Amino acid sequence: MNVVRQAPDGCPALVLNADFRPLSYFPLSLWSWQDTLKAVFLNRVDVVAEYDTEVHSVSTSMRLPSVVSLKSYVNHSRKPAFTRFNVFLRDSFACQYCGKADREDLTFDHVIPRSRGGKTTWQNIVAACSPCNLRKGGKMPKDARMWPAQAPRQPNMFELNEKGRAFPPNYLHESWQDYLYWDAELES
Ligand SMILES: [Zn+2]
Repeated sequence: MNVVRQAPDGCPALVLNADFRPLSYFPLSLWSWQDTLKAVFLNRVDVVAEYDTEVHSVSTSMRLPSVVSLKSYVNHSRKPAFTRFNVFLRDSFACQYCGKADREDLTFDHVIPRSRGGKTTWQNIVAACSPCNLRKGGKMPKDARMWPAQAPRQPNMFELNEKGRAFPPNYLHESWQDYLYWDAELES
């Protein structure tokens, strides 16, 4: 996971979609200042806010962008990749059987066991803590009397992004706050 703890030195820019919503909440869409300046010069982004920090070249100096927005809209209705991270994010990093949200102890469970022909797909994989996974073993849900909290299905990017709003990173620059809406309470 890409958590930035020392942003003022690194000066990453928060990247917004063309609708001024963050491209991604989790991991938060951040670019290094080098990548950000490249995108500015290639005219791919607009600068929305800046750091006080300046960079200098022989002929000019400019303040580093702290927030940029893409000029062309990235469509969030596209299908996300079927990855470990995205399955966990869909399930809010919580066991779908007991609800425990211990990210260190999270595994995958095939709802219909592989031994019964269950596939490794969005529709048959859920996040499960290891005790629940062990308890369910190779049993069908009705035999184990264990059903996932929600019927697993393929999310779209928009839905995953909404889930990500529950996971603010440790560091947030003040200029980002106007564009971020967290589901979780921030520690002050
Ligand atoms: Zn569990």
